[in-house]
Amino acid sequence: MKAAILLIGTELLNGGMLDTNSIYIAEELNRYGIEIKYKMMVRDVISEIKNAFSFAKKNVDLIITTGGLGPTDDDITKEAIADFLKKKLIIDEKEKKELVAKYKERNLDMKIFKEIEKPEGSISFKNDVGMAPAIYIDGIVAFPGFPNELKNMLPKFLKFYAKENNLKSEIYIKDIITCGIGESILENEVKDIFTEKNIFYEFLVKDYGTLIRLQTKIENKKNVEKIVKKIYNKIADFIIGEDEDRVENLIFNYLTSQKDILTISTAESCTGGMIASKLIDVSGISSSFMEGIVCYSNEAKIKRLNVKKETLEKYGAVSEETAREMLNGLKTDVGIATTGIAGPRGGTKEKPVGLVYVGIKVGTEVEVIRKEFKGERNKIRQRATLFAMYRLLKMLSKRYGI
Ligand code: AMP
Ligand code: MG
Repeated sequence: MKAAILLIGTELLNGGMLDTNSIYIAEELNRYGIEIKYKMMVRDVISEIKNAFSFAKKNVDLIITTGGLGPTDDDITKEAIADFLKKKLIIDEKEKKELVAKYKERNLDMKIFKEIEKPEGSISFKNDVGMAPAIYIDGIVAFPGFPNELKNMLPKFLKFYAKENNLKSEIYIKDIITCGIGESILENEVKDIFTEKNIFYEFLVKDYGTLIRLQTKIENKKNVEKIVKKIYNKIADFIIGEDEDRVENLIFNYLTSQKDILTISTAESCTGGMIASKLIDVSGISSSFMEGIVCYSNEAKIKRLNVKKETLEKYGAVSEETAREMLNGLKTDVGIATTGIAGPRGGTKEKPVGLVYVGIKVGTEVEVIRKEFKGERNKIRQRATLFAMYRLLKMLSKRYGI
């Protein structure tokens, strides 16, 4: 089974918007063993969309489009499909009622039914998060441009399409999420485990960790599980979790599943609030999160956290001693402190750009780690954030068990 992705939107071609939809689509199609032959991008121009359809129709079985399903004049995808397939645009009365109900629910005084127009004979997929349903007809499926709406409907469509076309070769993907170990060292550690010929391995650096991705046909799932076990035996200390696991959610689970909820606060210098922000991404964290202090200057470190002036003078702001005293200034059960040189200026031979001291405390247990991160300023800050949270997760799991 072969597919083409057609990304529709003038903003995608003139630099106004970055395409992320095709990455998500590719990952989902992968799961069904549907091969992506082409990825195309066109402006909101009917003739150009139709040209892309003509080309794709000759070369693939399925065309997936995103964009141009909205109510505005530049939303013309369905018109282009109808024109290309020589169908009429119609409105389904049931869908009209559903849209009216949605407008009412959102207190919108609107009567725009363009969003539910569709080429005659189309099948619709319900949009639980937005207005326009996805539609499918004659090997063309069209989704809205909004990534969250695409995510809501693509899995529904693929389930339907796989059944319809008897797609049996479902793909099994297992991601092991690691942190604290460089990609090449990681590969060296685990490559001897990868002996199975029919499992495809790759390493992917994502913002939530470095992934070891194992991919195979669903029939080989058991073999993947065996290999996963071996990976754990070898590098368990560097593993954050699997698949949809994210470090902030796992930390949240530990903090809130104890008999007495553990309180947490942060003292951030070089990460400037990024750790607090990640934690606050988790809904429900208010029962645990007390405060996030961004203590960037020496003065703030002294005033807010009682770091000693002498410590700063003797060892410098970027030092193990300062990180320790920053942690001490936090009065919650759990604390994270960071102090480092994010660059590009301010590095020396002894203290290079990228050097960060990460302090973690859980109860009376304290750990301060010296770590050197690579990359430009923001990458260093992001990597330090992930690393600090990963170390906290490890300390929590050591103390409270899996
Ligand atoms: P549309 O369905 O064309 O009205 O698009 C709705 C929103 O989704 C707009 O803000 C688009 O910029 C955005 N969007 C469209 N295509 C993509 C894409 N390929 N990746 C990410 N966002 C997109
Ligand atoms: Mg658009």
